[in-house]
Formats: sequence, structure tokens, C-alpha cells
Amino acid sequence: MVVQHLLAEKGLYRGAIDGILGDNTLAALHQIEGMDPRMPNTRKIATMIQLGAKEKGIDGGPVDGLWGTQTQFGFEELAFIFQHGRRRTTWRPEEIVPANRWPKQNTPEFLEFYGNRGENLVTIPAPFVLKIAWDLRLKATKITCHRKVAESLTKVLEDVRDTYGENDINSLRLNYFGGAFNNRPMRGGTLWSTHAWGVALDFDPDRNALRWGRDRAAFAHPVYDEWWRCWEDEGWVSLGRRRNFDWMHVQAAEV
Ligand SMILES: [Zn+2]
Repeated sequence: MVVQHLLAEKGLYRGAIDGILGDNTLAALHQIEGMDPRMPNTRKIATMIQLGAKEKGIDGGPVDGLWGTQTQFGFEELAFIFQHGRRRTTWRPEEIVPANRWPKQNTPEFLEFYGNRGENLVTIPAPFVLKIAWDLRLKATKITCHRKVAESLTKVLEDVRDTYGENDINSLRLNYFGGAFNNRPMRGGTLWSTHAWGVALDFDPDRNALRWGRDRAAFAHPVYDEWWRCWEDEGWVSLGRRRNFDWMHVQAAEV
């Protein structure tokens, strides 16, 4: 069925999605570039799965027509997409390990990694339009952040966009942007905030006030679990999730 879905998506197959490898399905398969009609059918199917996965940014292994564990993974991801219209979000244990280990804030390692406050800044395009939380008439399409977090931040926000979609991003106020780079000391403290290095962002501050705990903060609600999963997959730290305050804040630094 996954193969038929993939072929239908390409406009090559208009028959029933019934999982039966009939003449129409085979004929459609043979129209795929590089598909050798003389290959065994099992190999054609594996090739199609690998191609389909690749085109959707899923790692289904090399496109070689050989079904291994990576192809199985690609197949399961594709099956989920066709069933639910989005990427599978339950992760396997080995995927819990974050891609990045950010340095701990207020340590020499942090300074060594990020350098001086207010330096090494770059501007990245936001994958979805942000509303400026303190003046909703204003929009932002770019974010200023530290060069070393730019790639990771882009990945996180693309993941948020793909996971929630535009409507949910709006209704859940994931686009209410409270700022990123800001060369200022920590609120109520003498230490410098991680915002001063451009490695922290705030979202929806009105509904996630600094001193609110999970009983009041919007972002503590389970509907935001996937939001935090997007950040935590990249090793970003939510002060709300870790310390139960400042739920608006997320940073590329351990606490
Ligand atoms: Zn903050």
C-alpha cells in the first residue's frame, strides 16, 4: 500500500490502494527512473520504498533494492505518514540521545565554546513567520542567534513547522516570539542571561510568565509535549521542563 501511495503521489498510479501488486501497480513502478523491469518484484518494491523515503527526507538506507533494517525503518515512517499525514513522532530509545550536547551555562566551558557576549552572531530565516509577542502587529521573518546554534535552531523550527503545521502553530501560539539575542543580565540576577550570547529564545511570554510553575504556564500542558520534543531532540534545554519556572525560555546550554 505504501508503494501504491508513493506512485499515486507521483501521478503514476490511479488504481485502488489495496496492497495488491497487480499489473497497474507494476506498470507504474516501471515508469520510475532507474527501475529495471527485469529485477525481481521484491527488489522493485524495496527500491520504491527507499526512493520514497529519500524524497521525504527519511533515511531509508541506500537506494539499492535490498531490504535491511534501515529500509524497514523508512517503510514504517512512510506507512505512518500515509496513515496520519505527518511524521511519526514516537521515537525509539536510541534516538533519545540529543544530537548536540551544549555547554553548561556560567562555566568556563560555556565561554570557551561560545566566546564573548554579543559576538559571532548570525541571522537565520524563520521557517514560519513569527509574531512579536509584545506588539502583535509586528512580524519577524528572521532570527538573530549565535553562529554555533544556527543550524540546530533551524532544524528545531523546521521540525516544529512539520510537526504542528501552520494552523496549530497559530492556535498554540508557537509563533509568539519573545526575543532571542539580547545583551542583558539575567532578570532578577547579576549573572548574564544566555540571551546575551544569542543562544536562548523566549516564546509566548504572556502565558508563560517568569515565575509561573506548571500549574499556570501554558507550555507545561501536554499539547506542547511535541514542541519540547523538537527542542530536546537537538539538546536544547527548557527551564520550565527542568526547573519549573520561566516556561517561555529555551536555550542551547545545560543548566
Ligand atoms: Zn529567556
